[in-house]
Amino acid sequence: MHGLMMDDALLISNLIEYAADYHGDREIVSRTVEGPIHRYTYSQASQRSKQLANALEALNIKLGDRVATIAWNGYRHFELYYGISGMGGVCHTINPRLFPEQLIYIINHAEDKLVFLDLTFVPLLEALQDKLPKVEGYVIMTDAAHMPDTALKNVMCYEDLIAAQSDTYSWPQLDERSAAAMCYTSGTTGNPKGALYSNRSTVLHTMFVCGTDIFGVSGKMTILPAVPMFHVYAWGFPYAATMVGAKLVFPGAAYDGASMYELLDTEQVTATAGVPTIWLMLLDYLKKEGKTLPHLEMAGIGGAATPLSMIEAFEDDHGVRVHHAWGMTELSPVGTTARLNPRVEALPTSERRKYQVKQGRAVHGVKMKIIDDAGNELPRDGVAFGELAVRGPWVISEYFGDPDASASQFTGDGWFLTGDVATLDSEGHMQIVDRSKDVIKSGGEWISSIDLENTAVGHEGVAEAAVIGLPHPKWDERPLMIVVRADGSDPSPQEILDYLSDKVAKWWLPDDVVFIDELPHTATGKIAKIPLREQFKDHQFSTA
Ligand code: ADP
Repeated sequence: MHGLMMDDALLISNLIEYAADYHGDREIVSRTVEGPIHRYTYSQASQRSKQLANALEALNIKLGDRVATIAWNGYRHFELYYGISGMGGVCHTINPRLFPEQLIYIINHAEDKLVFLDLTFVPLLEALQDKLPKVEGYVIMTDAAHMPDTALKNVMCYEDLIAAQSDTYSWPQLDERSAAAMCYTSGTTGNPKGALYSNRSTVLHTMFVCGTDIFGVSGKMTILPAVPMFHVYAWGFPYAATMVGAKLVFPGAAYDGASMYELLDTEQVTATAGVPTIWLMLLDYLKKEGKTLPHLEMAGIGGAATPLSMIEAFEDDHGVRVHHAWGMTELSPVGTTARLNPRVEALPTSERRKYQVKQGRAVHGVKMKIIDDAGNELPRDGVAFGELAVRGPWVISEYFGDPDASASQFTGDGWFLTGDVATLDSEGHMQIVDRSKDVIKSGGEWISSIDLENTAVGHEGVAEAAVIGLPHPKWDERPLMIVVRADGSDPSPQEILDYLSDKVAKWWLPDDVVFIDELPHTATGKIAKIPLREQFKDHQFSTA
């Protein structure tokens, strides 16, 4: 017997419609690519999303057609989130930091019909367009006064395009399972893989991440999503803020510490979220300039493990509570958050922080388990580790148009294999040990490169650290630590090893510490280990 309840569809268009009706006067502030700060309201965003939807229909975009965006965090990008998905198209956000070959692969594989791009990316697309046969036109996200001279074919100006359209539009009552948005993984190995989100998965993800014990997103907040809108919906914050009526602040293309501080300060931002590398730049700037963050209350940090020293700096120096989170493109992206249960919250600070550096507990809806190589579930004892497998209503069920990738990353019985190695404890706290391909196997045991890296950055002379496994005749593999020194510091390898010695198991201590000016990063801000392994492949351990 079914319940006797209405089956109203969960649609992305309902979010912006609700925002216009219930908190239409709340502000959306953007640092624009053209320069000035732009301000308007959810009401105006809603009207312009409708004009955009009319324009997309006029350009013959049909249900399920993919429309690409290559853009920074800003109000026009926000309108595209709603205009494209709301009218039945698929909003395909593309990470401009990917290699040109990856961009060509992604746009062709997704069969994007139109590309909306910020002024910044005009030269990039000019260089690629001859290899993009399926793209029918390019829309530059600016006004007539800023339109560049460009070799792009079928080029349009965003403001002219929408100015020609009415702001009266009835959002279609789509099937909630219809495709709404799309994002490709950065593909450190092999081709990027596409995650195709539905209206339903996106709205459910939005509802759950707003939860008080998840990100606690509230209409009283002023939120600056520091994670790019081209990186898995800026972790869902543009949708979450719209649902609850939080003031939104978009940082545009400026991610350096000074620019970030300026917006956090002038707009009195209370909540933000981003990857550790962004916060390293900000914290460094604040320390050098002797500045503080009196308005900020919460920083969500994820995408890579959050070091203890970062939690300490935010909390002790600035009174900002850190909420560590774990997720993936394939999970829309949020899987866990380190919001603490009452038992852990009541622990002394240093004990509590041992839980904050973990990736946290699953958001209701996401089920997780750890498994061994044979697929057997391992105990939830905080010690056993294995590959993390997940399932849930905002986890992909397969990759878009990629049966080979889908075959290798799903179990036969409906679990997605994350490629992360983790522990789970009896209260459900999950801790990532490593990416399975980065874990170091030494003498039959595993060493966590993440743990070593995050412990090392607690040393004041270490700005950033990467650990890779190198072949060793006796132990199979041993760790090499590669360090970027902090400005003005000159620690010796021995000083770093001494610092680590009472913080990690003795047999985990790196066999060598070497210094480098800068570490390579992936398009999503993680340390890129493949080029490091290549660079140091001939390194000889003094202990070997
Ligand atoms: P990419 O496009 O780089 O794959 P994703 O955001 O999908 O971008 O990356 C997901 C991966 O990032 C996870 O599988 C995990 O390895 C890593 N990751 C994300 N959040 C964390 C975290 N809090 N701690 C450690 N690793 C994380």
